[in-house]
Amino acid sequence: MNIILLGPPGAGKGTQAQRLVERHGMKQLSTGDMLRAAVKAGTPVGLKAKAIMEAGELVSDEIVSALIGDELDAMPTGTGAIFDGYPRTAPQAASLEAILASRGRALDHVIELEVNEDALVERITGRYTCAACGKGYHDTFEQPAVAGTCDKCGSHEFKRRPDDNEETVRTRMAEYRAKTAPILPIYEARGIVSRVDGMADMDAVTGAIEAILV
Ligand code: ADP
Ligand code: ADP
Ligand code: ZN
Repeated sequence: MNIILLGPPGAGKGTQAQRLVERHGMKQLSTGDMLRAAVKAGTPVGLKAKAIMEAGELVSDEIVSALIGDELDAMPTGTGAIFDGYPRTAPQAASLEAILASRGRALDHVIELEVNEDALVERITGRYTCAACGKGYHDTFEQPAVAGTCDKCGSHEFKRRPDDNEETVRTRMAEYRAKTAPILPIYEARGIVSRVDGMADMDAVTGAIEAILV
């Protein structure tokens, strides 16, 4: 099974992808995570992407599609892929088709997380993750059971993204509206789009996604 989680920044794509990984042994392919790793490692891709990401704009289609192809090649063929934050433009959607076809894979579902834009700023500005294992948290909506200790790995170190500020979020939302939302009709025409209420609580969102995947 290969699925796309689609939605604006803060919609809950990463949160839900992490849950699907744990429950179904699928693999999360997040171009945002890949790019952040490249920035941290100071690779040529990272050097190109850093300022673009900090501004909330989109990194080039060629760069992200190459990252996705490499990650898929490193995966066992029987493992399902969850595309999180990719594709984000029409050229990326076209590349994904070719990338999947050449590897004998096909898309099963495109799941759109529908959210109220006003809620996204609060979600994004309260977001943080475990520095050791990457588990996602939120200042208000998902706190660790023991304050300051990661539920999943016990680490006491957490981090916030430099682009998770109100100004950048507005740019990222505008990019989503202008370039990403318009790719939905391609998938709608194929009858593979499902919509989920991303404003529901996290467990309800997971339940709704599970119901689509069965
Ligand atoms: P995305 O990957 O779509 O940018 P995330 O999954 O990182 O979004 O979620 C953004 C923030 O909102 C995180 O801090 C997360 O804990 C929180 N969050 C995710 N889903 C929900 C939800 N259904 N209700 C409330 N907060 C949520
Ligand atoms: P969010 O889920 O909060 O929108 P991501 O982690 O997916 O954020 O992406 C962070 C940043 O990385 C984006 O604002 C953009 O600069 C870059 N990026 C990630 N994925 C892509 C992509 N598919 N195409 C272009 N740029 C991307
Ligand atoms: Zn952790």
